[in-house]
Amino acid sequence: MKKHIPLKKFSQNFLIDSNIIKKIIEFINPKLNETLVEIGPGLAALTRPICHLINELIIVEIDYSLLERLKKFSFYSKLVVFHQDALTFDYLELFNKKNQLIRVFGNLPYNISTSLILYLFQKIQIIKDMNFMLQKEVAERLIASPGSKSYGRLSIIAQYYCNMTKLLNVSPKCFRPVPQVDSIFINLTPYATNYYPYFTHDVRVLSYITNLAFQKRRKILRHSLGQIFSEKVLITLDINPRLRPENISILQYCKLSNYMIENNIYQNYI
Ligand code: SAM
Repeated sequence: MKKHIPLKKFSQNFLIDSNIIKKIIEFINPKLNETLVEIGPGLAALTRPICHLINELIIVEIDYSLLERLKKFSFYSKLVVFHQDALTFDYLELFNKKNQLIRVFGNLPYNISTSLILYLFQKIQIIKDMNFMLQKEVAERLIASPGSKSYGRLSIIAQYYCNMTKLLNVSPKCFRPVPQVDSIFINLTPYATNYYPYFTHDVRVLSYITNLAFQKRRKILRHSLGQIFSEKVLITLDINPRLRPENISILQYCKLSNYMIENNIYQNYI
C-alpha cells in the first residue's frame, strides 16, 4: 500500500511517540463492556492499542482512504466504522442503541476541536467522559480561571458542564507531520446532573449572556451588558459594574442568567 500523504484540510498530525501513546491508553483505561467512540482514528496510533483491551470500538473518520487502510489489520473486526464528519455523528442514537453512557476520545483534528466539544456539550447527559488531545491554547481556554488571559465563554460553558483534568503536555515532536503548536491531553468528565457546582435555569441564557459580555472583552460590564442590566441591578447581584468580563466568576454569570429568567426578560434574547 502506498504511503499516506497527510491532509492539512483534515488536520492530520499523526501521533508517533510510543511513550505518549502508552500514557494516553492508561489514562483512558478502557473497560470491556464500555461504549467507546474514537474521533479520527487516522493511522490507528490509539485505535490498535485500545482494540487490544476491548471487544468493540466505534470509530468516526472523515477520510475514507484512512478507513480503507485499517482493513488489513486483524483488529479491524473489532471496529464499528462510520465514514462521517464527527460534527454530524448521531451520538444520541448510539446511546439509545447501547443503553449506556458513552466515552468519547481522540487526538482531535484541531480545526474542529472547539466546535466538536460544544456539540458534545449539547448531548452532555449521554456522555460518561471525554479524553481529548487538543491544541494547548484550546485546553488552556477550557480550564482557565477568572482573571486569566485565556478565560472566556468556552471556559465558562465547559466548567459549567464538566470537571476537567489536564493529563499530559505533549510536544510537537510527538506527531508527524510536526504541528506548529504545543498540545495538551485532557479529561472532561460531566458532573452528575444532581451535582452541578453551578446552577442556571437555562444554559442557553448563560450562553447568550457570556457571548454578549465577551464580544467586547475590553468593555466594562456597565457598557457591554447595559442594555439588559442597569448598574443598580448589577450591584444588587453583587457584581461590580466597572469590572471587565474576564473578572466575573461562573457563579456570577449564572446569577446574571437566572436574573434574566426569573424576571422574564430572556425571551427576546434567545
Ligand atoms: N488518531 C490518529 C493519531 O492520533 O495519530 C489521527 C489524529 S489526526 C490529528 C485527526 C484525525 O481526524 C485524522 O485521521 C483526520 O482524518 C480525522 N478527521 C479530521 N476531520 C474530521 C472530522 N470532521 N470528523 C471525523 N474525523 C475527522
